[in-house]
Amino acid sequence: MEQTAVIKTANTAKTAGAPGAVKAAGPAKADRRKKAADIACLLFDMLVLALVVWIALPALDEYTAAGIITPGKVSDAERTLESGGEGDEDSIFDHITIESEQQAAILEALRRRWPERKAPWDNGYQGLCETWVCDVYASAGIPVSGSCCASESRDKYAVWSEEIPVGAMIYSGPEYLSGYLCEDCGKDPGHVAIYIGDGKVAGSQSQYIMTLEEFKEYFGYGGWSFGGS
Ligand SMILES: [Zn+2]
Repeated sequence: MEQTAVIKTANTAKTAGAPGAVKAAGPAKADRRKKAADIACLLFDMLVLALVVWIALPALDEYTAAGIITPGKVSDAERTLESGGEGDEDSIFDHITIESEQQAAILEALRRRWPERKAPWDNGYQGLCETWVCDVYASAGIPVSGSCCASESRDKYAVWSEEIPVGAMIYSGPEYLSGYLCEDCGKDPGHVAIYIGDGKVAGSQSQYIMTLEEFKEYFGYGGWSFGGS
């Protein structure tokens, strides 16, 4: 056994020495060719990077900067998502009784940017429930205290009451498991959506608008908050 090991070591040393010798003997032409190939690779990488930035930046803009509005400052033109579109005159978000400017801004952001026909799940937010909720709040001009995931936000901010205000973030119960693990806190990230009143919940979930009963059935109930604000 011991002898085999010695032979193996000797063989490895011999093999490792061989390419070095070939390399040293290689002509300078090969080196130049290698350098040219390296530069071509670098140029190709830069081209790919430029393409990614070119494609990704407008998409980011669509979901963030372009959507920031402040309560009471939304013009009729801004109410429609697509220019020249028919708008969303008979929106579900119009038929809800609200009590504050904050709630009005959240529903307006939903109506304007996320009408029923534009489910977040099918429009870039699959698996990004908390990002979507935060984006809606940002569109409504409402600050949100950041957190790594919905479960962490729930544990930090949730009010465990059955009286859920319109526009509040509504969290999954601790028993709900999404099947992933948050890299920051190590918890299952859970789920979060927005309570839109009238017994309904909107969220980046496979069914955009669901009843509160359906939400509780699928995700359990972990209380509500206005994003820690
Ligand atoms: Zn987390």
